[in-house]
Amino acid sequence: MAIERMLPLSNTYQLISIKRQTLETMDGFAMCCDNCNTAIINQATIRDNFGNLWVVGLDCLKTLLGSVNNRGFADDMLFDFNCTVRDLARMKDAESVEDCGHAYRINYRTKANKKASTLLFKHHIEQFNLTA
Ligand SMILES: [Zn+2]
Repeated sequence: MAIERMLPLSNTYQLISIKRQTLETMDGFAMCCDNCNTAIINQATIRDNFGNLWVVGLDCLKTLLGSVNNRGFADDMLFDFNCTVRDLARMKDAESVEDCGHAYRINYRTKANKKASTLLFKHHIEQFNLTA
């Protein structure tokens, strides 16, 4: 069962964007989640059915997803966000990185020491306010 906090689960929400806070956007203060009031680094902007904008953390976003009316879009965006964060971490320990223009090809070793590669799209890095 999803626990209702500040934002009523009876409302519907649309996911607008997911962005990571940076030192510049934080302006010295960490943003707090409008739902649970804890400090958040990754902020999801959502709009309720009354047109109000709220900023919530990704855990609360997942709770509210049951009430998100663009669910497929939201799931895709969360998936892209998680992949981009994972691939940026991979890039740091990569065997090699090729710049393919719109993306980076990251050649890395899996935990089982097998060669693998993945594409990290530059527009995702920009979209989520992450840094390469
Ligand atoms: Zn929260």
